[in-house]
Amino acid sequence: MSEYSVFSLVRNALTGHKQWQRAWRDPEPKPSYDVIIVGGGGHGLATAFYLAKVHGIRNVAVLEKGWLGGGNTGRNTTIVRSNYMLDDNAHFYEKSLKLWEQLSHELNFNVMFSQRGVLNLAHSDGQMDRYARRGNSMRLNGIDAELLDRKQVMKMVPHLDFSDEARFPIYGGLLQPRGGTARHDAVAWGLARGADRLGVDIIQNCEVTGFKRSGDRIEAVETSRGTIGCGKVGFAVAGNTGYLASKLGLKLPIESHVLQAFVSEPLKPFFDHVVTFGAEHFYLSQSDKGGLVFGGDLDMYNSYAQRGNMPTIDHVMRAGVAMVPAVSRLRLLRHWGGVMDMSMDGSPIIGKSPIDNLYLNCGWCYGGFKATPGSGWVFAHTIAEDEPHPINAGLRLDRFERGHIIDEEATGPVPGHH
Ligand SMILES: Cc1cc2nc3c(=O)[nH]c(=O)nc-3n(C[C@H](O)[C@H](O)[C@H](O)COP(=O)(O)OP(=O)(O)OC[C@H]3O[C@@H](n4cnc5c(N)ncnc54)[C@H](O)[C@@H]3O)c2cc1C
Repeated sequence: MSEYSVFSLVRNALTGHKQWQRAWRDPEPKPSYDVIIVGGGGHGLATAFYLAKVHGIRNVAVLEKGWLGGGNTGRNTTIVRSNYMLDDNAHFYEKSLKLWEQLSHELNFNVMFSQRGVLNLAHSDGQMDRYARRGNSMRLNGIDAELLDRKQVMKMVPHLDFSDEARFPIYGGLLQPRGGTARHDAVAWGLARGADRLGVDIIQNCEVTGFKRSGDRIEAVETSRGTIGCGKVGFAVAGNTGYLASKLGLKLPIESHVLQAFVSEPLKPFFDHVVTFGAEHFYLSQSDKGGLVFGGDLDMYNSYAQRGNMPTIDHVMRAGVAMVPAVSRLRLLRHWGGVMDMSMDGSPIIGKSPIDNLYLNCGWCYGGFKATPGSGWVFAHTIAEDEPHPINAGLRLDRFERGHIIDEEATGPVPGHH
């Protein structure tokens, strides 16, 4: 498959754009694979890519029940950051951010990674203290963080509500300058093309429906396209993890919840950064097409539906208007939902499972998109070496048994609070 470059663009332009090759093949499933990854979202595709690239394991299939990136990867608000306080999360997400910084070059595919800065707003002295503490922890872990006062925030994002009547006055904020956004579809497509170029079979419209077991091992996966033998199996199915694991008799500390996202009509560029509200659950950025992209809380009930309900829409809009009053005159263009894999401590689970050759990648809560390359990188290591990398050692499933939970928000074991 040819490289994408200015030369290939010119060559194809001169021949009427009729000779572009498919970005990835559409193979029939083989009778068996060394590794089967279930789920063709960003995490499954990144895992396959790094299995082939870093570990030389190329007899790999990614099985996707729908189309690539049709799950949460193609439904999220694309925020990428590593502004975590607890060590296990901080080191993991920083590894991921470093991989983002080279991903377009590594894949020869522009994932439109834009380091426009992620700013968390503070609305009280107490919140400023919390952000100072988080920022200090980040800097001790070698992660960029800047505490801004009210004047600095006003200069940076003048459209926020700085009026005397503001419902939630702005005291300052915590900025991670290296945070930003990436184009979600491009991430799925670029990783798929990268994995395919290394020999990975990407098989769409192939739902895993069950498993053939021999004692504590999985011998084959049953799919809508037949039974496929496997050496090892990795789950990267986000909100479907609990359902798929139940077919193996596993009960995991994961709940599936709906999270909605929203896009407004397009505007000229006016909002240059990613900003999160500190008074309510609300965050906002502007896409390259001009639409404002925003989201808020979970719908707060268990569901597998990829659509949400009016009360949450109302709640998100009210929070948005409180943060940026000018958006009250905007029209909403689209909204949709994704099925979130909410873990009980708000942190992800990447590691081995109670079944010998099954590996788990789940519990991404609100924030798995930013983890995409890092998650694939450590999951590939875990599968290839049959043990976690030091970066995901703390994120193992058995932390819930051992009591070593990673409760970044310190809100307790309730998914809705994370
Ligand atoms: C509205 C919303 C906003 C978000 N905003 C952000 C954000 O700004 N920043 C951030 O970092 N994260 C965000 N997230 C979270 C992020 O999108 C996810 O954590 C991340 O994309 C998960 O990637 P994944 O590859 O694990 O899952 P997915 O992309 O959901 O991929 C899983 C795939 O598995 C497939 N699958 C399921 N069951 C089977 C089966 N039985 N057989 C075969 N295939 C199967 C599904 O079809 C799906 O394609 C948001 C999520 C939502 C819903």
